[in-house]
Amino acid sequence: MTYFRPDIADLPAYVAGKNPEDPDVIKVSSNEMPFPTLPGVAAAVSGRIGQLGNYPDMGNTLLREAIAAYHETSVANVVVGNGSTALIEKFLTAVCTAGSEVVMPWRSFEAYPIAIRVAGGTPVPVPVRADGKPDLAAMLDAITHRTRAVMVCTPNNPTGAALTHEELHRFMRSVPSEIPVLIDEAYVDFVAMDNPVRGIELTREFPNAISLRTFSKAYGLAGIRVGYALGAADVMAGFTKVATPFGVNMLAQTAAVAALQERPAVDRRVATIVKEREKLVRALRALEWNGPEPQGNFVWFNLGEEAERFARFCAEEKIVVRTFADEGVRVTVAEPQASLRLVRAYKKFRA
Ligand SMILES: *Cc1c(COP(=O)(O)O)cnc(C)c1O
Repeated sequence: MTYFRPDIADLPAYVAGKNPEDPDVIKVSSNEMPFPTLPGVAAAVSGRIGQLGNYPDMGNTLLREAIAAYHETSVANVVVGNGSTALIEKFLTAVCTAGSEVVMPWRSFEAYPIAIRVAGGTPVPVPVRADGKPDLAAMLDAITHRTRAVMVCTPNNPTGAALTHEELHRFMRSVPSEIPVLIDEAYVDFVAMDNPVRGIELTREFPNAISLRTFSKAYGLAGIRVGYALGAADVMAGFTKVATPFGVNMLAQTAAVAALQERPAVDRRVATIVKEREKLVRALRALEWNGPEPQGNFVWFNLGEEAERFARFCAEEKIVVRTFADEGVRVTVAEPQASLRLVRAYKKFRA
């Protein structure tokens, strides 16, 4: 006996990275930043600790103003949510009806199929290309009269490859304007390639383009839960209507405002990770790893049935990685010690 709709009863469970108990083990399974909370953020949050009896600002005013200023856009183009995952869920719940389809790349962020099904929709997974990018041509072909939204993830989690601006622009020109396209740019800060996607520019040109950002990755605020969407004012207004009242807590709003003020420190941390990623990629390529050029803060090992065998070598080296059974292994770029262990594990695996 269950109270839940049949389509909820057999939902796959989201698999979160495990928190190791052994202090010597390094967790590189959740794409977290390996740094302590930014000092300005810690100070700002501490300053609010005595006020937890008050409701937060329901309109997220200060935070939306800070985000708008940072992106040189208007407050009307910004919506804040309890992590960008919550924004994805809310949006899909508001647009799907029974029989709705949502086209998404796959393998991609595992929250997508769950959010789509919770919304009552049907996920239409389109395999990513051999180079790890979402297959935009195949995704276009997958659009039908039942399609209510399209997900695009760039850089794609977990394959790490990113689309170019021209690729996504061409796609946006072909998608019917009545179908919203959610461009998940969770890893935008780590992109270091020619011609990167300029998501905000796309939202200005195409009213059906929505850019999703998060404070969980580059800003290192995964634990406090805050993300945002950028897009046309009327779309953002619809978004706001379905928001959970007071959904973004006071400490999260405070932390995110402070994090934006610490943008130079964020940039330095991101640069450290990008440099570490380049070092790691060179070491792995020397061992004949030939995965897609990673553009996020993680590296993908496309190993098929060998994924679990490689994960065991990683466990022996005391790093916790994210294993996708029979598909591959995703490893977060973190401290140099983690890279050393990863390279050692891969060397042993190859031997
Ligand atoms: C981490 C991540 C997010 C952000 O999730 P939050 O809910 O903001 O923590 C969104 N999309 C992708 C692809 C991610 O990997």
